[in-house]
Amino acid sequence: MAKLELSPYFDEMYTKGDFPKFKILVDGKWTATKKTQDLISSTDGKKLAEIGVADAGDINRAIESAEKSTSKIRSMAAIDRIELMLKAMEELETHKDEIARALVAESGKALSSARGEINAAIERMRLSMEDSKKIVGEYLPGDWASDTSEKIALVIREPIGVVLGVSPFNYPVYTSIAKMLPALLAGNTVILKPPSADPIAFMMCVEIFRKVGLPTGTLQVITGSGSETGDLLTSSNKINMVSFTGSTAVGKHIASIAGLKKVHMELGGKGNALVLDDADLELAAKQCVKGSLELAGQRCDAISRILVVEGVYDKFVTKLKEHMSDFKFGNPLESDAITMGPVISEKAADRIDGMVKDAVTKGAKLLAGGKHNAAYYEPTLLVDVPLSAEIANEETFGPVVTVIKVKDTDDALKVANDSKYGLDSCVFTENFYNAWEAMKALQSGNVTLNAAPSHGTAYFPFGGVKESGYGKEGVGYTIDEMTVRKTLIFDLSPKHLGKSYMGTFKD
Ligand code: NAP
Ligand code: MG
Repeated sequence: MAKLELSPYFDEMYTKGDFPKFKILVDGKWTATKKTQDLISSTDGKKLAEIGVADAGDINRAIESAEKSTSKIRSMAAIDRIELMLKAMEELETHKDEIARALVAESGKALSSARGEINAAIERMRLSMEDSKKIVGEYLPGDWASDTSEKIALVIREPIGVVLGVSPFNYPVYTSIAKMLPALLAGNTVILKPPSADPIAFMMCVEIFRKVGLPTGTLQVITGSGSETGDLLTSSNKINMVSFTGSTAVGKHIASIAGLKKVHMELGGKGNALVLDDADLELAAKQCVKGSLELAGQRCDAISRILVVEGVYDKFVTKLKEHMSDFKFGNPLESDAITMGPVISEKAADRIDGMVKDAVTKGAKLLAGGKHNAAYYEPTLLVDVPLSAEIANEETFGPVVTVIKVKDTDDALKVANDSKYGLDSCVFTENFYNAWEAMKALQSGNVTLNAAPSHGTAYFPFGGVKESGYGKEGVGYTIDEMTVRKTLIFDLSPKHLGKSYMGTFKD
């Protein structure tokens, strides 16, 4: 049975009882909420903990505290902010195993995935600290233009103010840290709204930041169902930016109520893998299975459909079958050797099942898997999937290797681009010119050659086009998104220090 065993270091975050009851962090204090909601572990379908549900009063106090505290973080020397991060990083290293195990219990992900996620968050911290030193400005001499010839300007970068981060269940620690850190390093205060399904491991990280001395009010954590708490946060005019990672449907809703504040949207996708006729089929098969099944397919950058040209189709499918056992599927709490656990809930498994059944009804062939027990959805191989099937077009977010036959490269590109999404994709070919043609033509924010998409610490910028969102996520890119450029103009003409424009130069 899933159980949380937290060391006394984390005692202030929750009240003890039959189940730990987690609080929210408002104005520097862990605060009990009037209402709570159950957190069900997908490993056994049983209650693991209770999570605070913030009400309007809690949310308003958090927003006010965050707004009031902007001057605190702005007045802190950047080097002091880094010192705090370094301390937090050390503490995270000390507690990372405990945090990873809590993440396994709440999310059902394999221990290796949970460890990978925490390590990526720590590495992201290290890289973000380096990149935050690049928050600098520009000096612009004005005499390149006739109307500013006697002026100069400094373009400086300032914090935006209060940043709201809303993060999804699939990487609850990493995506939350990837919003919180750059925001703080850039001198903003932050309110985080982690996912209801699995917020605990991230809140443990927050406790570390609080304990190492992050100034009161610079970081707040609100929990509770997004549909209840989200609107109050995203529509508030005291919040200056929303950094959202989640589904396209929720992203559209947020965009509709956010008003004029800055919004960064990292949304859903339907990642294409193109297997062209000159691909290394063994490499492609191994990578396509990895990209489809890793984290039980619950990745925005998952390979969600494989477009295979007909000349290599049968050979490629044979190879896919050989790799279907690459992941060890089971309960991650029973063995650390498990590499693929259940999906996030039984409801999610039912949804995936519906998509697979719909495809089979429309003519697809099921070559492996296709069954589920509660939230445990088997690694599944579905081939000959017609374009009319829902799974050919909608985000799967489950462990289904979905194969579609196409005529040639042009056909593959046509199918790939005829999608409302444009987040991630990959191309398998050994030919440079074919690779270049396909990579340039794909309407996708990211394209990887000869490997499954994998974005780790986001050292390379990441983000979508079309209904997959806008804005670029990445170590320095996110810091950039969370600052605003201010132009300071100096008129030198009163003291005749500028260069007056004469039209033509006269000696
Ligand atoms: P989701 O249902 O959209 O939820 C994401 C977050 O938004 C959760 O914290 C959720 O809270 C909150 N939320 C829900 N309604 C809200 C509202 N009205 N206002 C404000 N916040 C609200 O997504 P998910 O199911 O957790 O995650 C899977 C999705 O995320 C997939 O579509 C995946 O592709 C996408 N994703 C994208 C990226 C990327 O970088 N592009 C990365 C990872 C995941 P509750 O949990 O309380 O409902
Ligand atoms: Mg959801």
